[in-house]
Amino acid sequence: MREATKVIRSTLNKPAAGEPLHPGPVFAAPYYAPGDPASIPYTYARSHNPTWTHLEKAIGQMESSEDYRASALVFASGMAACSAVFGAVLRPGDAVVLPSNAYFAARVLAQEYFAKMGVEVRLAPTANNAQAEQLEGAKLLWIETPSNPTMDVCDIAALCQAAHRTGALVAVDNTTPTPLGQLPLALGADFSVASDTKAMTGHSDILVGHVAVRDLELRQKIDQWRTLTGGVLGPMEAWLALRSIATLPLRLERACQNAQRIAEYLLTRSEVEQVLYPGLPSHPGHDIARRQMRFFGPVLSFVLRDKAAAETFMKQSQLLSDATSFGGVTSSAERRARWGGDKIAAGFIRLSAGCEDIEDLLEDISQALDATR
Ligand SMILES: *Cc1c(COP(=O)(O)O)cnc(C)c1O
Repeated sequence: MREATKVIRSTLNKPAAGEPLHPGPVFAAPYYAPGDPASIPYTYARSHNPTWTHLEKAIGQMESSEDYRASALVFASGMAACSAVFGAVLRPGDAVVLPSNAYFAARVLAQEYFAKMGVEVRLAPTANNAQAEQLEGAKLLWIETPSNPTMDVCDIAALCQAAHRTGALVAVDNTTPTPLGQLPLALGADFSVASDTKAMTGHSDILVGHVAVRDLELRQKIDQWRTLTGGVLGPMEAWLALRSIATLPLRLERACQNAQRIAEYLLTRSEVEQVLYPGLPSHPGHDIARRQMRFFGPVLSFVLRDKAAAETFMKQSQLLSDATSFGGVTSSAERRARWGGDKIAAGFIRLSAGCEDIEDLLEDISQALDATR
C-alpha cells in the first residue's frame, strides 16, 4: 500500500460485524482488572488507554519504513514529548548538544532546568552541520531541521553518523515536516520527536506530542517517564488527533504546494528583502533538504524592510490570521520578533501556508505587500 492509503486505513478499527468502522474515545480511569494485572492490557489510564493505542499505532506506522518498525508514544503536548526525551536520557554530568536556534521552550527547558541539575548544555547553529563540532563526550544530540523560524537545514544522516561514532544518542524534533515529510528514524536518529499540535493534526484545536523509537529499551524508558510524570493526553484529544491524521496526506500535500508557490511569488516582489524556504533552489540547505525530505513543509519566513512594514502587512492581509503556531488548514502569519528570544530582523515574518486556494492567497499577499510601500 502507498503512504496515503496506509495512513487512512491506519485510523480504522479492526473490522468486526456490528462494530463501528472508526474507534471512538474510551473514557475511563481504572479498568476492570481482576487477579494478576500482568496479562491485562489496560489497568489504569495514566499508564495506557485504548484510544492512545489506536493513535500510537497510526503514528508508529508513519514513523516506520520497510527496514524497521517504529513504535510511538503519545503525550499531552509537544513539550511533554521533548521533556520525556531529556528526562529519560540526561543525568548529571552528561552533555547535550542543542541547536542554538532550537524551539525556544526546548532551549529554555535545557538551560534553566537541566543545566541547573548538572547537565552540560552545548549550543551550536543548525546550518552547516555546526553541531558536529560539539559532540565529543556528549550523551544526546538534539536536531531540529528545518529550524524554526529561520528555516536552516542540517544533514540528519551525516550528524547521526558523527554522533553515533562518539556514542551519543540522537533526537530529531520533526514537528515542521511531520513523518510524512521527513523520516528521522530512517535517517539514523534514535528518537523522532514532534509537536503534533502543528501539521500532524492540523486543525489548531488540540495540543498533542509524540516520541517514536525503534529500540524497545528506549521505548521502555520513555514510557516509564510518561507514567511517572503523569501529564498525559486525554482520550478526547487522542481521538480528535486520530480523526485528524487521516487527512494529513491531503493537507500536507496542499499546504506544501501553497508554501512553495508563496515563496516563489515573494521572490518576485521588491518589498521583500529575503525569503527563507528549503524548497527554493536559492536556499543554502536546498540540496540536503531535497535528499532527506519528501515535502519541504508548510512553513516559510520572509523579511520586510522594518517593523512598520511587517505590521502593515499583517494588518492589511485578510487571509493570513495573525497568530503564532503553524501547520493548520488556515493560513497564518506573524511578525516573529514581537516575542523576542530569536536573533531575527524586526521585519521578519513567519508564514504558515494552509489549504486555501492558492490564487486567493497570492492575491491577498500581493495587496498586503502593496500597502507596505
Ligand atoms: C510547537 C513546537 C514544540 C512544542 O509543542 P507544543 O505542542 O506547543 O507543546 C516543540 N518543537 C517545535 C519545533 C514546535 O514548533
